[in-house]
Amino acid sequence: MEKVKKTAEQWRAELSPEVFYITREAGTERPYSGQYNDFHQTGDYRCACCGGLLFRSQHKFDSHCGWPAFYEQAEPDSTYRVRDTSHGMIREEVRCSRCDAHLGHVFPDGPKPTGERYCINSLAMVFEAK
Ligand SMILES: [Zn+2]
Repeated sequence: MEKVKKTAEQWRAELSPEVFYITREAGTERPYSGQYNDFHQTGDYRCACCGGLLFRSQHKFDSHCGWPAFYEQAEPDSTYRVRDTSHGMIREEVRCSRCDAHLGHVFPDGPKPTGERYCINSLAMVFEAK
C-alpha cells in the first residue's frame, strides 16, 4: 500500500474545517449528527482524506451508539490501531492505513463473527454507492 503523506497545512487547504478537525486533529463529531449514522445504502465507505477503501455496507450494523458502526473493516489492512489514553479512558483508536487519518475507535463489544465494534465518525468517510 502506498502511503499518502501531507503536511497539516496541505490537509487544511484540502479539507473542510470539520473534516480537518476530525481526521487530522482526532476530533469526534456529536453523536447522532453524522450523515451515515442512520444510513442503510449499499456501497463502500472511503477515507475522506485519501479516498482509500475503509469499510463496506455489508459490515455495518445498528449499534445505537450515535455513530456509524461496523463489525469488520473492508480489508485486513484498511485501518490500523493506536492505543489512546486521552479523556481518562483506554481505547483503541482507528486510523486510515494510507494517510493516518483519525477515523474513530474500536471496542470489543460488537456482534459476531468478529465481536468488534468500529465506531467511526461520518465526517471521516465518503460513501460510494454500489
Ligand atoms: Zn486515508
